[in-house]
Amino acid sequence: MQSVSPQRPSEVIATFSETSPETVAATVEAARLAQRSWAALPAPERARTLARAASEVEAAARDLTELGIAEVGKPRLEMASEVQRGIAILQYYAGAVLDPEGDALPSPDGKSLLWSRRHAQGVAGLITPWNFPVAIPLWKMAPALAYGNAVVLKPAPAATAIAQLLGDLLQRCLPPGLVQLVPGGAVTGAALVETADLVSFTGSSSVGASIVRQGAERQIPVQAEMGGQNASIVLPDADLASAASLIAASAMGYAGQKCTATSRVIVVEGASRFLEALVEAVRGLRVSDPGESLTTVGPVITEAARERALGAVELGRQEGGRVIAGGQPFAGDGYFVEPTLVAGLEPSAHLCQEEVFAPVAAVLTARDLDEAIEVANGVRFGLVSSVYTSNLDAAMDSLSRLQTGLVRVNAPTSGVDFYAPFGGTGASGYGMKEQGKAAAAFYTKSQTLTIAPSGSSS
Ligand code: NAD
Repeated sequence: MQSVSPQRPSEVIATFSETSPETVAATVEAARLAQRSWAALPAPERARTLARAASEVEAAARDLTELGIAEVGKPRLEMASEVQRGIAILQYYAGAVLDPEGDALPSPDGKSLLWSRRHAQGVAGLITPWNFPVAIPLWKMAPALAYGNAVVLKPAPAATAIAQLLGDLLQRCLPPGLVQLVPGGAVTGAALVETADLVSFTGSSSVGASIVRQGAERQIPVQAEMGGQNASIVLPDADLASAASLIAASAMGYAGQKCTATSRVIVVEGASRFLEALVEAVRGLRVSDPGESLTTVGPVITEAARERALGAVELGRQEGGRVIAGGQPFAGDGYFVEPTLVAGLEPSAHLCQEEVFAPVAAVLTARDLDEAIEVANGVRFGLVSSVYTSNLDAAMDSLSRLQTGLVRVNAPTSGVDFYAPFGGTGASGYGMKEQGKAAAAFYTKSQTLTIAPSGSSS
């Protein structure tokens, strides 16, 4: 297997073989041995080790950034800030591991002790996508390790080189066997779900659904963070210029390849000047080599992804849509697509229901906030939605009626705070939330413990 640079597809970044199911099983076994002594270490020692891992990643920040740009085509500024986020995640869990690990409960008889305590789960199988090649592996690995688990990471094939560098950096500070990598595709991923003690997956909704089924069959904990079809609602009282520039960036930044990208812009009647501002903001985005520091939109990840994006725009035209910005590929080797807006579609159109994962968004109109919220909620996904308004009542109404896992007012759909719970509903998220303190619940299991005085009669 190979990963190649999406801006220069003739440049091969990594060549590797699919890890066989037998090797995956042996790797999980080796990780299990290492996990027992790791979990037995006092928490302050695990904290110190994670802090060292953060320093190791910090020292390699430049290399990780360059490799991310080359391998997954993420624009320089975004890639550099993703690496900084990765370091902050490691530092955060180095502190969080010292939080209380259970609750002391009232004694049932006035004499006995009753409390709950959290323990590590074992070997965490982590299956990740290519679009956040540093932050997503780290927001799974850091809490898993902090709470005493071992990790076996199956990175996306398109992000294998950067995962290998990240793995090397962590392996330098952590005990042998505790952090392992199994490069490969679906076969390797399925083998990991077959052998790990718990599985955290991020990727598409279709693959997520199959992993959830496979995990349920084995009765192991599974969490799956999946695709999105995120809406941004614009009300007439919003700061329209600011909304246009935030929405353009969240729909098209990194070529729309974020689970949190805005895919539907719902413009409420009366905000018609907004459309002009949006088209202008989208046309003003810099589409160029992701290595340049001013680039906002780089290439999409593969030729197949570019064909899918252009096919979705064509289908939009057939369904009655008007392309009001972009719509074309760029000439040349890299997989570039013009940032594209399609207006005039029905909410049931393909572009308004499915995730395209490219710099393509649909623009819809709604009579009022009620209709806008109904349209926003009318998809099987439920990751994030945004509302742009200066009216407090409209903001509060939206916060209580939008059904996504994250709801943001006057802030773009894209954007994740690593210390806050993160996750979707419906086809976007299954199981426990990730990140922040929420991660502790997934990577540990709780026991309820009692000690009664000897000789108790009941
Ligand atoms: P993908 O589903 O194709 O692959 C994700 C991972 O699963 C890869 O490592 C892949 O090799 C592995 N895989 C594929 N088939 C498998 C199988 N049958 N069993 C086990 N593993 C298997 O997704 P992708 O193209 O890498 O990433 C893009 C998708 O990820 C988009 O849908 C995007 O919305 C989603 N995503 C979601 C979030 C989130 O937090 N909600 C974040 C980033 C990306």
